[in-house]
Amino acid sequence: MSDLFIDGEWTSGSGGSAQVVNPFDASVVRTVDQAGADDVDRAVAAARRAFDHGPWRSVEAPERGALLRRVADLLVRDKEEIAHTETLDTGKTLVESRIDVDDVTAVFRFYADLADKDAGRLVETGQPAVVSRVVHEPVGVCALVTPWNYPLLQLSWKVAPALAAGNTMVIKPSEVTPLTSILLVRLCEEAGVPAGVVNIVLGDGPTVGAPLTEHPGVDMVSFTGGLATGKAIIRASAETVKRTAVELGGKNPNIVFADTDFELAVDYAMLAVFLHSGQVCSAGARLIVEDSLADALVAEVASRAQRIRLGNGLDAGVEVGPMVSEAHRAKIEGFVDSAKKEGATIVCGGARPADPALAKGFFYLPTVITGVTRSSRVIREETFGPILTVERFTTEAEAIELGNDTEYGLAGAVFTQDMGRAQRVASALRHGTVWINDYHPYVPGAEWGGMKRSGNGRELGYTGLHEYQETKHVWQNTAPAPQGWFKG
Ligand code: NAD
Repeated sequence: MSDLFIDGEWTSGSGGSAQVVNPFDASVVRTVDQAGADDVDRAVAAARRAFDHGPWRSVEAPERGALLRRVADLLVRDKEEIAHTETLDTGKTLVESRIDVDDVTAVFRFYADLADKDAGRLVETGQPAVVSRVVHEPVGVCALVTPWNYPLLQLSWKVAPALAAGNTMVIKPSEVTPLTSILLVRLCEEAGVPAGVVNIVLGDGPTVGAPLTEHPGVDMVSFTGGLATGKAIIRASAETVKRTAVELGGKNPNIVFADTDFELAVDYAMLAVFLHSGQVCSAGARLIVEDSLADALVAEVASRAQRIRLGNGLDAGVEVGPMVSEAHRAKIEGFVDSAKKEGATIVCGGARPADPALAKGFFYLPTVITGVTRSSRVIREETFGPILTVERFTTEAEAIELGNDTEYGLAGAVFTQDMGRAQRVASALRHGTVWINDYHPYVPGAEWGGMKRSGNGRELGYTGLHEYQETKHVWQNTAPAPQGWFKG
């Protein structure tokens, strides 16, 4: 089966093939085709043609909405197959993969409903003979580049609004987890997306991602991934003055005041950081806890962290899976080593599991680290793994200061029973999402994205659609008369 989709045809590409590995046991799930530079050119040319000359431009907004609704229906039909594939590809549990498919379906429905709701606005010019309209138009050809942690979910946050707004696109999923992105493109084809509107090329960053995002035929790059890659994409966009929207990493504070119900504090501290083995951009990896609660909270979290059931995401009862790859686990190990060298205390974890049943996979134990300083690497950098660090505060001001002491600004939470304090802390935190007495939830209607080095732009919500729209002002003089500006 060919895995690249260019101009309405499934094709094998000129870049050879690559193996997609199951992180649970390092077995090969599937071998997939890889694109070469010529495939990238062909995909951009197809998207360009479909945007500039294809029938797509005359597909009106209600029809685009109907198309998105058909994709949503197909996602419901294929939910089990897609969820199963996502688990094989990423290692996450089937429960999580099923939730991902439901969330993706909701995102398609949300943008289906939004597609024809905003025809722009009339502007008061003070001149009765003038009709002045501000309208929204698609940006053009979009390069959509996605990471490996939530492959289908992150892609849907881009594809659904980009289609709703009338763009064409070339998708480049992570080389580590491309399988559900291929499935989504198949569903778009089945739903009736015209040839050239949605294309997908597979391959790694240097070979495929860079030529795609630098391509002069691309009008906009929407990227989700790491900070270093995001910076490279923004730099490369300068040459052709492309629009860029980048969703990057996070180093997210989970601030817990001592008045929080103890069970709630323990439960959410664990959910915040250990969900999907910490491979979540919004993971609450920094537990910032009021001094009087810290010892008891850390002891209980560490005790329960040791009882988290690791295993095959396909097996019932398994709570978390492995790291996505051997290389990523090595990165996690590097963080723990550096914390140890700096004199930190590893309260639990800090190693690979001893269970022989997990030996082939890329597992790492849920880890809690205390005794870290604010300059520690493990505090400053995004680990993207099952590592919880603990910092303490005594005053509200100190909690806010710690929560903002990061170059990132993606998400964070505050736990307290004092709602005045909760609101003060929420407004003081420089993060794109703040949860009060909760962690991780999101909905399609609320914007998602980062401040500072967590990125620019927003996905989801109304802003998530506007990202894929140009704004045009159309001025019509209905009673033109000579102005007589030049007298000669
Ligand atoms: P990554 O930056 O290594 O790769 C992301 C994508 O970019 C992949 O498809 C990769 O092939 C491609 N790429 C790599 N080099 C490129 C280049 N020079 N030009 C163009 N494309 C290139 O990130 P990753 O390791 O796949 O994902 C993990 C990162 O994603 C974490 O930092 C995480 O925080 C971030 N993330 C952020 C959000 C968010 O909403 N802000 C969501 C999920 C993940």
